[in-house]
Amino acid sequence: MRGYAAKHLLTHRALGLFTRAPPQQRCCFVRQLLRRPSYKAFASGVSQSEPGVSKQSVYRRQQQERAGAAWLEEPFTCPACRHGSWRADKLQRHLQKCCPDLLPTGLDISSLPQLEIRQILESLRPQELELQAASLQLGWRDFDQDGNRIQRDVPEVAAILGLPRDRTKMLMHRAMKSIPLVADEEPIDILYEDEWLLAANKPPGIITAPKHRFQGGSLVNRIIGYLGRPPYPIHRLDMYTSGVVIVAKHASVVQRLHELFREREVKKVYCALSVGKLPPGNICVDGAIGQSPREKLARTVTDDGQPAVTSFLGMSSAQYDLSQAAKPSLLNPGLQDIDLTQVSVVRCAPKTGKTHQIRVHLAHIGHPIIGDEIYGIQGPWIGRQALHAACLQFVHPATGRALNIEAKLPKDMLDAINALGLQEPAALI
Ligand SMILES: [Zn+2]
Repeated sequence: MRGYAAKHLLTHRALGLFTRAPPQQRCCFVRQLLRRPSYKAFASGVSQSEPGVSKQSVYRRQQQERAGAAWLEEPFTCPACRHGSWRADKLQRHLQKCCPDLLPTGLDISSLPQLEIRQILESLRPQELELQAASLQLGWRDFDQDGNRIQRDVPEVAAILGLPRDRTKMLMHRAMKSIPLVADEEPIDILYEDEWLLAANKPPGIITAPKHRFQGGSLVNRIIGYLGRPPYPIHRLDMYTSGVVIVAKHASVVQRLHELFREREVKKVYCALSVGKLPPGNICVDGAIGQSPREKLARTVTDDGQPAVTSFLGMSSAQYDLSQAAKPSLLNPGLQDIDLTQVSVVRCAPKTGKTHQIRVHLAHIGHPIIGDEIYGIQGPWIGRQALHAACLQFVHPATGRALNIEAKLPKDMLDAINALGLQEPAALI
């Protein structure tokens, strides 16, 4: 019984994902369906299916008719949230929860013929769009007589529209999401691209993703300009860190990519220029990172922070007197406890991905990053923290192939390496 239930569940999942799964998985779902006993019996009785229609979809239609429901070419969609439902009674229940104000009082669509239901749903859509536009206007785009913007929160907008707060919150959320993100025309340096993923080399000085829908100027806005549609952001780099950033192009791989990052299955290698000379061999720093009590934007190693682990390897070092031109940073104003007579190229492999992790851990062991305005030292060598995400390695979520995406060191870091008398690392991997 348990085996049958599991198989049944798998097949249902297979049917649901038929069209959404990437091709690699799709054939495995079809294989599961083909193994189902009732499908085997059906397929052996049918010599040839209708032209252009697969045996599997004929089977699915039969199953649905047998369950007593009329065959639908496509599901009914909620005029408010676009939720799809194959059954009119389920949709009726959904509408009563989702957008009861759109439904004429006393109307029960579940007893009506299919065509009529579709006409009613279609006629409700303009009302929903009008409400969305009104909520957007009231929430963010209203101005007083002097031209100052009036920003209203959800309860205020709800009171004006005469709708419940939950409904108004969703209206404002959907209205905001309907505003297209800004597409920037600046070119991007593409390191890898296929139908599921795109990896770009982020230049220093731009943020990874926009902070607001109306705003442009981030790497994601440039990717939108390139792709013509928004990607699915997966992770981010600090504004002044350069290097590999990946985004998903297909929704089916987003969850798996997040899992890979969360479960530490993505191998990340960064290159940093730091103060002092690291002891030989791998150095593993295991220190929880939390909010700094001294500065709002800064992080620090603290017992009540979130676990963070990074391993460091000194690649090369050189004698260089930093003290002549060194300017202090926010958290080390006195430039204390650091050796200003040597510099190093450091290979950093973070096992976790906490905010400012590499910068905080290197500062914690007395080798802060050169150019880092919060934790390190500043000077004429480089105009930002000398930190570059050089490589990402992971298993492709759709094809299962091992991927190795590398970004060469940017010019400002190469210049700093030369200026400090260091050697460019031959290979970081
Ligand atoms: Zn809905």
